[in-house]
Amino acid sequence: MQSAPPIKLDLLINLQTEAAEHYFEVRDPGKFAEVVALVATATARDVDAAVKGAYQASLIWREVPVAERGRRLLEAAEAMKAIAGELGITLAREQGMLLAETKRDVANGVQAIREAVAISAAFLEADIHEDGESLIRIEKAPIGVIAAIIPWNAPMGLAMGKVGPALVCGNALVVKPSPFAPVALTQALQLLAGFFPPGLINVINGDGEAGPALSRHALVGKVSFTGSIATGRAVMAAAAGTVKNIALELGGNDPAILLDDANPDEVVPELVKRIFPRSGQVCYAVKRIYVPQALHDRFYDSLCATVDQFQVGYGLDARSTLSPVNNQHQFNYLQGLIERTRAAGGDVRELGSKVDADTWRDGYYLRPAVISRIAPNAEVVVAEQFGPVIPLIPYRTEEEALQMANGTEHGLASSVWTGDFERGLQLAKRIQAGVTFVNSHARTSLGDRHMPFGGVKQSGIGRGRTTIGMAEYIEYHAISLNKKNLTNFQATP
Ligand code: NAD
Repeated sequence: MQSAPPIKLDLLINLQTEAAEHYFEVRDPGKFAEVVALVATATARDVDAAVKGAYQASLIWREVPVAERGRRLLEAAEAMKAIAGELGITLAREQGMLLAETKRDVANGVQAIREAVAISAAFLEADIHEDGESLIRIEKAPIGVIAAIIPWNAPMGLAMGKVGPALVCGNALVVKPSPFAPVALTQALQLLAGFFPPGLINVINGDGEAGPALSRHALVGKVSFTGSIATGRAVMAAAAGTVKNIALELGGNDPAILLDDANPDEVVPELVKRIFPRSGQVCYAVKRIYVPQALHDRFYDSLCATVDQFQVGYGLDARSTLSPVNNQHQFNYLQGLIERTRAAGGDVRELGSKVDADTWRDGYYLRPAVISRIAPNAEVVVAEQFGPVIPLIPYRTEEEALQMANGTEHGLASSVWTGDFERGLQLAKRIQAGVTFVNSHARTSLGDRHMPFGGVKQSGIGRGRTTIGMAEYIEYHAISLNKKNLTNFQATP
């Protein structure tokens, strides 16, 4: 079958699409021969133009009433929903993941904008304190220009989780997608930008030059970064020059602790659903499992039998239940990690079947692997593997399990699996993490509205989602009014 010609994407600065000197190729991680897109590479000069445009737009947008900002965002979200099917297919081709997963990412993006609008009016009200003489209003003022730097693994949900709150709070944006999944996100942002004044949403692509230029630009008020810990450190250092506000949503190495009163046969199917989505390339996927010594063998057998059912194949092939990984660096790292784990004496079982063995040479395909008989401080346990590889570590006492769970630089999400409410809650409170689930992982029936998301230790600074996350996009401005000398005094203008 003839493949579609590559999509060509320019820069978007001040609502103008601008050609660049260089374009980089985005290839399909499941079919190397296919060039999905040619994407404009931004220079530091382009970044400067985008930030200056955003700054001017932010001065206008901050005066627009919150209700009007929300109305435009909802219209924009509807437009994005109308092309969700196409965006999902493009994302699956550039990012490599299963179509069901990319469609969910697009739907999460639309939902993130709607959620931000839904909570904005009450959140953005000033807080008021008053006595006979004075009135203090704590205004929630926009910051100005937000630089939103996005990773490749869930670009739509993560980007719109910044776009929604940033815009409804009165800011302007310069968004930098990842070079490993820039296409669907750039298309969506180009569409959304048309609903707002010129300069309010700018999109620049690239890597080496664009990211650092954005992180150190004097007119950027805040860098809202999602990505790896290593890049987070670089962003933090670049932002230090102008003492810039930053939010860092970084890597995780989420532990799941199974207690001795949990039933492995019930827990395993649930856990597998939380380890392997997007081929394990999820910041809050389960990345290591601690299991009581006495339950180890039963748990291991059940885990291997379940993981063996995966069908690894092309993301757009309906038979596939596990996709390739996204890029060469990740593919090489995971292969090396498996070799090093074997060399260290670990028992590595590579499981699952190939949907179409002939295509494997042309994509970053890996079988899902279950690792056992490995030291608790082995690389595969303490590093963020970010792939379809899961280590199982036995423990003797609950205290030992807790120490191992807390014994890394990470602190994003985590879970405890038990039949006892009180035991689960008490252990959950002692885990060093931004988010802990009991008897689930990365999922609550209450949705995202009530659960702020983010990490402690080196997993990040700040929170996303909810009104706590929205507070990342405002500056508190306290204004004290002396009533005695003011005519026409009113508490709420
Ligand atoms: P990455 O750090 O390599 O890249 C993230 C973004 O930063 C990309 O857009 C990249 O081009 C840009 N970038 C690269 N160098 C830069 C620099 N010096 N200055 C500014 N920007 C720069 O991460 P990735 O490989 O795209 O994503 C995977 C990582 O992201 C994993 O560690 C994962 O856990 C993490 N992640 C975290 C969350 C969260 O919410 N905590 C969510 C998703 C992914």
